[in-house]
Amino acid sequence: MIKVGINGYGTIGKRVAYAISVQKDMTVSGVVKSNPDFMSRIASKNFNIFVPEKDKIKIFEDQGIKTSGTIEDLIEDSDIIVDATPEGMGRKNKPMYEKSGVKAVFQGGEEHSIVQASFNAYSNYSDSWGKDFVRVVSCNTTGLARTLYPIFQDFGIESVNATLVRRGTDPNDHKKGPMNAIEPGLKIPSHHAPDLKTVLGVGEVNTVAVKVPTTLMHVHSVQAVMKKNSSKEELLSAFSNYNRILPVSGKDGVSSTAQVMEIAKERSLNRSDLYEIAVWVESVSVRDRVASYIQAVHQESDVIPENVDAVRSMFQLSERDKSIRTTDETLGIGKKVY
Ligand code: NAD
Repeated sequence: MIKVGINGYGTIGKRVAYAISVQKDMTVSGVVKSNPDFMSRIASKNFNIFVPEKDKIKIFEDQGIKTSGTIEDLIEDSDIIVDATPEGMGRKNKPMYEKSGVKAVFQGGEEHSIVQASFNAYSNYSDSWGKDFVRVVSCNTTGLARTLYPIFQDFGIESVNATLVRRGTDPNDHKKGPMNAIEPGLKIPSHHAPDLKTVLGVGEVNTVAVKVPTTLMHVHSVQAVMKKNSSKEELLSAFSNYNRILPVSGKDGVSSTAQVMEIAKERSLNRSDLYEIAVWVESVSVRDRVASYIQAVHQESDVIPENVDAVRSMFQLSERDKSIRTTDETLGIGKKVY
């Protein structure tokens, strides 16, 4: 049993904690909460609560929330920490992990340069084999790597061009935006292009990102120039070999992210999350070796199975396909809704 501590119990941390808790080869040693709010109360029903600094123990206990100590105590009792603190904080936490000899998985808000390998289960599971510091790439990059990998495997990829329509913020946030505007990312390519290359060995990549006022999902329009020609049918068949890709159809009335998330709600898995990347079958096309498709990414949850698989690779617990199969079965990934 690998003991996994979770530092940061927000959008990603709480989902990783759940996903780890349903694995047979891992257990959650505890979670770090920084404020004694309703989420800490909920978390304390399932997990041991730790705090970032000693001073917080009394603040939590004054609110009636029992703690099991500080982050240092959690590290002491863990084989690995999944760091899901806010963007940029993981880099600051790394020396603490190094000092105590604990492994750590970081998230997409951290730079590739702070780890030994960036991770995507399909495209480069073995790069993290036995490593101490690994980063699961961001929700957008995970979405791109997931669907480009089958194309890369079957037909080869010369270059990628993608437009990313990004959600403004997550559903639990009432402060960030935009609220009534469309915000283009002015750095081109956006950071997703170099990020993709850390997990998938494709040639030239160009990405443009635009933020819009929605919280549900991101939508990507992807074009990949393939080394070999292919067809729509062959692309759909390549996608169908991978559980973490969900075909959806406008003919069935799935015409926006609203209906994609409705499918997830009907399936009623954990928090009604959609771990899979949804690809609209009508959008899949091939012209002169250029594969095109449109996909939707549930930013709160697509990286969760990758965190579980990253832990397995870092401890050399299972080879790629076995780990993915186990994670998929335990989280209900690929479970048919209709
Ligand atoms: P979040 O803000 O929802 O959660 C972060 C949590 O860390 C919060 O609960 C916060 O209270 C807590 N925290 C703050 N200071 C802390 C401290 N000193 N010690 C411990 N916990 C502390 O953020 P998130 O969306 O879960 O993002 C976490 C990481 O995951 C970031 O790197 C982000 O880029 C990445 N990520 C986010 C998404 C997404 O869409 N939300 C998707 C993929 C990856």
